[in-house]
Amino acid sequence: SEPILKIENLHTHFFTDRGEIPAVDGVDLYINPGEVLGVVGESGCGKSVTSLSVLRLVPSPPGRIIEGRIFLKGQDLVTLKEKEMRKIRGDAVSMIFQEPMTSLNPLFTVGQQIIEIVRLHRGMSKRQARDHAVDMLRNVGIPRPESIIDEYPHQLSGGMRQRVMIAMSISCNPELLIADEPTTALDVTIQAQILDLIRRLNEEQGTAVMMITHDLGVVAEMCHRVAVMYAGKVVEEGSVHDIFKRPLHPYTRGLIQSVPRMDETRERLYSIPGNVPVLSTEMQGCRFAPRCPEAMEICHQSLPQLTQQEEQHSCRCWLHERSQEDAV
Ligand code: SF4
Ligand code: MG
Repeated sequence: SEPILKIENLHTHFFTDRGEIPAVDGVDLYINPGEVLGVVGESGCGKSVTSLSVLRLVPSPPGRIIEGRIFLKGQDLVTLKEKEMRKIRGDAVSMIFQEPMTSLNPLFTVGQQIIEIVRLHRGMSKRQARDHAVDMLRNVGIPRPESIIDEYPHQLSGGMRQRVMIAMSISCNPELLIADEPTTALDVTIQAQILDLIRRLNEEQGTAVMMITHDLGVVAEMCHRVAVMYAGKVVEEGSVHDIFKRPLHPYTRGLIQSVPRMDETRERLYSIPGNVPVLSTEMQGCRFAPRCPEAMEICHQSLPQLTQQEEQHSCRCWLHERSQEDAV
């Protein structure tokens, strides 16, 4: 079937005092209906900016989508008028963030916020919308939803606020949910509950999910497919099984080796030496070359393409470029 989301050659740049920063530098991604796609990478790799681009929420200025297309069920969001985009946000596509306080309005009760969204998108009466809001709060495991609905965000714990935000984002039954590090700020128990909630939503409602995370544990547990990003580009993409069993890109291998195991002590933990590069439009070659243990001469000169290596497994690395000699 056709992907619910298809991102083609997306470039989102930031125009700052220190120059033009290609935060998202030619990203291609797709998500099939009912699929959970993990987008992983270190902070600054462009994963959050990619997701904000989908919702056209990149702060502008300084950010701007300068090239590319983002198709939601065939409709290009990049060229959509803001008025049209507003109809899509919170309805067909919605987003949950790491810090719920950024998307919850502190001046309104939990109920008022959910009710406003469903009235806007679904045209329900006040009474219907309130009943719906109570149902939503109950769905996300909030105890006593009839009383929580009249509380303000600051009266709730972090975990409760995250549930409220999820209730709000699923209140119009979105076809695509974007979750940007949804559990990073929460303690382990709450983390597991929130992930469970998102998984249930995917399994029971068929909601497609874009799960943005730096945590490969979350990917292993939650996702069907994964795209690994580095310095604004996708460097490897494939099924979770293939990526964990046969990672092709040296960066992905490094990430997998740095996942702590139960039987390992902190000291023995591998981490990728070096730093994420400062992004600029002048960059040449493979962005990972300065940190790559397998870098060759060509890597510093020429950027490898994202090419398919196996069925549904692509990689951007000269080690796997069959036509390496031709390209030089
Ligand atoms: Fe390493 Fe070269 Fe592959 Fe980049 S292209 S990841 S530098 S081997
Ligand atoms: Mg981020």
